[in-house]
This record gives sequence, structure tokens and C-alpha cells, in this order.
Amino acid sequence: MTPQDLNKPIHVLKFGGTSVATPELIRNAAQRIARRRDSGVHVVCVVSAMGDTTDRLLSLAREISTRPPSRELDVLLSAGEVQSMALLSMALNELGIAARSYTGQQGGIRTDAQHSEAKILSIDPDRVLEALNRDEVVVLAGFQGHDDRDEITTLGRGGSDTSAVAMAAALEAERCEILTDVSGVFTADPRIVEGARQISALGYDEMLEMANLGAKVLHGRSVELARRFEVSLIVASATADTAGTRISRKDDSMEKVEVRAVTDDRNVKKISLLSVPDTPGVAARIFGSLGEFGVNVRLIVQAQSHAGHNDITFVVPGDTPLDDKRLEQLVTEVGGENWIIDDRIALLNIIGEGISRAPGIAGTIFKILADQKINLDLISSSNLVITCVVPEGDLVRGTRALHEGLIETDA
Ligand code: ADP
Ligand code: ASP
Ligand code: MG
Repeated sequence: MTPQDLNKPIHVLKFGGTSVATPELIRNAAQRIARRRDSGVHVVCVVSAMGDTTDRLLSLAREISTRPPSRELDVLLSAGEVQSMALLSMALNELGIAARSYTGQQGGIRTDAQHSEAKILSIDPDRVLEALNRDEVVVLAGFQGHDDRDEITTLGRGGSDTSAVAMAAALEAERCEILTDVSGVFTADPRIVEGARQISALGYDEMLEMANLGAKVLHGRSVELARRFEVSLIVASATADTAGTRISRKDDSMEKVEVRAVTDDRNVKKISLLSVPDTPGVAARIFGSLGEFGVNVRLIVQAQSHAGHNDITFVVPGDTPLDDKRLEQLVTEVGGENWIIDDRIALLNIIGEGISRAPGIAGTIFKILADQKINLDLISSSNLVITCVVPEGDLVRGTRALHEGLIETDA
């Protein structure tokens, strides 16, 4: 079967953890799905684990083992989504709606074998299409898949968004809605910045930067997939029926702004390799080895060399398993002197398509932070983003000040 064989368009609705945290919320979700179905479309829902289930399962695992086998950890974590998919399907059946739940494997989500950070390789939506053809609602477990040996894999924290977008792409769905505990994508995390404003529409590129730089409302890889397959993506409230934020290819109807959003990310650490020789091939060896460890490097800074030596500094996600032992090995390998790990830093990111067009913007940003007496540890900039590495303790104050100075004054 192909999506074209169906007689109605498909809508994918994804419910996040807080939106299915209790039986009452699950019943609310079922009612929303029922209304959508009554509007004349096929519905595929993708669910996360209830509330903080994934965190609870992780700490249970840690009580049993300090280094649980990654295969077993994925088996355990996948149980969170299995629980919510079955409950949501029951709630739909209670409303008299034919619904059936599917694990990632039953839904045809095939991934690579990288436990806890698996990438989706392909989707075989046959069973899902057959169910829709029988006019059933499909409830799919997010965050999980299976590799080519039928082992259970998970897609990384927040990965249910990616399951939803990937399924929407495979089904050529008319839209994919990410339903969550905020009413859309905001100009900053609304839990930190009181004056944050909801954005009505934005392009994939800006959203991708936001998601990769701390706006956890969407999993970065879900935005990448949405851009690649041009999935029409909407972020909206799971409980209120309001418009939300539309994410699509940039078009002329979208508001033109210099600075779109300010994001904060404290889940990072900074690593400096000190006094490594300033000779060709050293950086290639360092970052080649880091690549082999699977380290995802976020920002690299190398300054002017002194007496034939350099310091190389980079920022990695906070949970990257780079410890003193690994770094000692790396520094010795390239003939460096020492290393420093600093996890008390955070990233403050200013994102917007106008950043490269506005020559004065860097000065304005640094003045705002200077007025707050916030010290800039590192700075990096690209077409869409200026990132400042600041002490973690200054993150909230810096985010609020930048939002006020760059976005609220722009109202
Ligand atoms: P879910 O469980 O539905 O997947 P998440 O907790 O993963 O929800 O994502 C929603 C959260 O993202 C919000 O509660 C909000 O605090 C946070 N967030 C961070 N930055 C932003 C932003 N720019 N716009 C909206 N929400 C944001
Ligand atoms: N339950 C998983 C997590 O907590 C996946 C998700 O919610 O998207 O990370
Ligand atoms: Mg999420």
C-alpha cells in the first residue's frame, strides 16, 4: 500500500510526556484525537512516556548498575512509551474509536545499532497504512526503533519528536503537530523569560538552530528531517485548541526580524587542550579521535599561537563521556602539555536571519552583557547565530537581559 491509496489526508499528532502524564490527560488526548478524526482525516498519534517516566527508569537502572549494558538500557527505556501507547489506545477504544497501538518495530521504524542515540535509517509504514485503510487510529510509541538484528534502540532524549516527523514524512502526511506543555515556539524559553513572545511562523533553518542550541521544545533531528522532507510542522498546546507555531520553508508572509530568539543551554562543558604543537595535522588528529569516540563537538576556538604552541578549546554536550583519562591520552598523543574540563559554563545564543545583515549587532550584544557584568569566556558567530560562552551562574540573567534588549524593545 502507499499513502495515495487512502481516501483521506493523514495528520500526525505527537503528545509529549507532560501531556500524557495522568489518566485524565490521556483521556483528554483521546478526545482531541477523536475530534480531529471527526473532521475527516486519518490520525496517527505518536506518544512519549508518561511524565518523568524516562528519568525514573534511568535512575532505577543506576540503582542496579553503574554501567548498565546499553542494549538493556534501551529495552528498559522503551517500556515507558509502550506503557503510554497502550493506555492511549485503550482510552480511544473507550470512546468507541477503533485504535491500535504499535511499538517502533511494529510501526516499521528501522534504525542503526547505536543504542541510546540511534538514527532512523528507513521506515516501512505498511502495517500503519493497512490500519489506516481499515479506518483505525494508529498509536505509535515514540523514541524507539529496531536495528537490523531486531534489537530495540532508542533515538536519544527528546526523540519522540523525531519519530513523529519521520513517520509523517514516510506517510506523506498533510501535517505533523507536536503537542506539548507550551502553546508554541517562543522567542526564549517562556519558563525563564517572562516577556517571551510566541512566534506565529518561522523557517526550518532558524528553528533548527534554536533546537540544537537549547530550545528543547523540539528535538533537533526532528527539524532536520522536517526540512529535508518538507514536512509541515506545527508546535502547539496539547490542552488548548490554539493556533501554535508553524514551521515550514521560509516564505514572504513570514515576519522579518533581525533577532528571532535567544536560547540558553547549560547542558554543556568546555574542554581546553593546552600548549599543543602548532603544526599541520594536530587539529585533524584531535578531532579525528574525538569523532571516533562519537563526540559531538559544538564549538571550537583556537587562538593565535605562541612560541610554536597553541591552546585549543571546544565545547561538547554535558553528558559526553570525556574524562581526565581520555583527555590525558589525547593530549599525550599530540604532544600537548595539559588539559582543563570546565562544566560550570553555559551557552547563550542569539539567533536570527538578520544577524549577518546587521553589522552593529555584535556590539549591542556585548554591551548588554557588559552592563550585566557578565564575562564572556568564548564567542563564536555564524550566519544565523552568535554564541557566547558565559559562567553558568549568569545564564538566566544574561538570557533575560538579551531578550529585553534585543527582542522586547523591538515590539
Ligand atoms: P514534551 O514533553 O512535550 O516533549 P519538552 O519538555 O520536551 O516537552 O519541551 C517543552 C519545553 O520546552 C517547554 O516546557 C519549555 O520550557 C521548553 N522550551 C525551551 N525553549 C523554548 C522556546 N523557545 N519555546 C518554547 N518552549 C521552549
Ligand atoms: N521519553 C523520552 C524522553 O524523555 C523521549 C521523549 O519524550 O521524546 O527523552
Ligand atoms: Mg520533548
